[in-house]
Amino acid sequence: MTLSRFRSKPSAATGASADAAASAARVHVVTFGCQMNKYDSLLAEGRFKRRGYEVALGIDDADVVLFNTCSVRDHAEERTYSWVGELKRAKASRPDLVIGVIGCMAQRVGEEIFARAGHVDIVAGTRQFHRLPELVDEVRERRDAAAQAGRRGAQGRGARVLALEMNDPVAVDREDERFDGELAAYLTVMRGCDLNCTYCIVPTVRGRVLSRPVDDVVREARWFVSRGARVITLLGQTVNSYGEDFPAPGAGEPRMRGRQGRPGLADLLHRLQEVEGLARVRLITLHPSYLTRELALALRDCDKVDRFLPLPAQSGSDRILRAMKRGYTTGLYERRVDVLRALVPDVELGSDWIVGFPGETDADHAASERFLGAQGFAVNYVFKYDPRPGTSAADGLADDVPEAVKKERNQRLLARSAEVSLRRHAGHVGAIRAVLVEGLSDRAPGTLVGKTRHGMTISFEGAPALVGGEVAVLVEQASAFGLAGSLAGPHAGAGDAP
Ligand code: SAM
Ligand code: SF4
Repeated sequence: MTLSRFRSKPSAATGASADAAASAARVHVVTFGCQMNKYDSLLAEGRFKRRGYEVALGIDDADVVLFNTCSVRDHAEERTYSWVGELKRAKASRPDLVIGVIGCMAQRVGEEIFARAGHVDIVAGTRQFHRLPELVDEVRERRDAAAQAGRRGAQGRGARVLALEMNDPVAVDREDERFDGELAAYLTVMRGCDLNCTYCIVPTVRGRVLSRPVDDVVREARWFVSRGARVITLLGQTVNSYGEDFPAPGAGEPRMRGRQGRPGLADLLHRLQEVEGLARVRLITLHPSYLTRELALALRDCDKVDRFLPLPAQSGSDRILRAMKRGYTTGLYERRVDVLRALVPDVELGSDWIVGFPGETDADHAASERFLGAQGFAVNYVFKYDPRPGTSAADGLADDVPEAVKKERNQRLLARSAEVSLRRHAGHVGAIRAVLVEGLSDRAPGTLVGKTRHGMTISFEGAPALVGGEVAVLVEQASAFGLAGSLAGPHAGAGDAP
C-alpha cells in the first residue's frame, strides 16, 4: 500500500538515513499542530534512537508509527482520525506494525480513540513522550504473551496500552539526539498553562505549568548552536510566565528578575545573550498579564532578542474578554504595551483573535477591529470560535453566533489585519535593517529571504553563500506580507544600523 499523503507530509519530525541498517527497528512520527508538538516529536524520536531505532522517512518504511496530535480545534482532531484511518489496511497486511496516537488529543479523548480506531495500539498523553519506547515494548510483550497462550486476536485489544499520567515531568536530555544543523531551532522552556481561558482546552490536556531550570535551557540552546542553529525560538503557552512556578528566593539568596526574585524569562534572555554563535532569540507566545517592566528591559538590553512579540489580545471588547476570563481589559493591555513601547519603541506586536465567541455582538466585533488598528498588530491569526468539550465556555455558554456570521467576522478582521500589516511594514521602508539570511526564495531565482529583528520577512538579491549570515539590507518596498530591499553591506552584529 502506498501512502503518498503521508510521504509528502512536511511536518514529519525529521528525515532519516536512507541506508539504515536493515535490521534496526524504524520509527516515524507524524506531527499535527504547533511548534511545541514538533519539538515533542523530535524528543520522542531521540528516545527511540537512544534505544537503537532508526528514523524512517515515511510510514511505509516504519515499524512504529506515531501521530503527535492537536486538540485546540475540532478540525485538528478530525484530521487526525482521517490520517490514522488510512493505516487500517496497512495494519491488516503488517500486523507487527505498532500505531500510537500521542499528545494533546490522546490526553483529551483517551480510551475512546481505541473505540473509534480499533487498529491503534498506544494512546499516550502529553507527559509521556520520554516513555514511548517502553510503551512500544509493552505492546510487543503483550502480543507475544497472547500469541504464546494461543489467544486469538493477540494483535488487537489485549495488547493495547493507555498512558495518560500527567504528573511526570518530561525528561529532556538531548546529548545523542538528532538535529540536522538547521538554522532555526525550537526550544520548549515550560510546559502546561496555569490560566483558565474559558474557551481553551490546553490547560486540561497539557496540565499545570512546569518550567525547566535556566541552566537546562541554556545547555540545550548551546547544544543546538553547536549543531548549526543560529536562531532559537523559546516556546511556552505563556512563555513570559516562565519561572512563576519556581520557589521565591529565601533571605540572603540571590534575587533574580522574575516575580518576588524568582528566575524569570528576562534572566533566560540575558543568559542566552551570552551564548556565542547564537544570533537571534524569538519568543512564542506571550500573555499580556505577564508583560513586566523587567521583560521590557531585557528586550531593550539584549540585542539578540527579536523586537517582535506575539501577544494575543483575542478580543477588543472588555465584555468578551471578561467572558473569556483572559484576566485583562483592553485598557490594561494598552497600559502594559505603553510600558513596553516606552523602553523598546520599535517593538512590533502580533495577535490571535477569536471571532464569534458566545454572546459576541456586532458592536463587540467592531471593538476588536478598532483595537487591532489602534494597537497596530503587524501579524494576526484569526480563529472562529469552536466549542471544545470539557471547557467552561462549551459547557456553560450557548454557541449562539451563527457560522455564517463567524465566517463574515473572520473575513472582516483579516481584511483589517491586511491594512494594518501593510501600514506596519511600510513604516520600515527607507531604514537599513539587520537581516538574518534564512534561505533562497522558491519563487524568484537569485533572491534571498531573511528576517529582520522585527520578525518581518524580507527578500533581496544576493549570493546563496550569504545564507546563515547576517547582512544589512535597505528596505525599499512593503506589502501586507513582507518587505523587499537591496543589500546594503555586511552586518557586524545583531543590532540595526542607526
Ligand atoms: N497560549 C496562547 C495564548 O494565550 O494566547 C495561545 C494558545 S492556543 C493553542 C492558540 C490559539 O488558538 C489561541 O490564541 C486562540 O486564539 C485559539 N483558540 C484556542 N481555543 C480556541 C477555541 N476553542 N476556538 C477557537 N480558537 C481557539
Ligand atoms: Fe489557553 Fe489561555 Fe492558557 Fe493560552 S493562556 S494556553 S489561551 S488557557
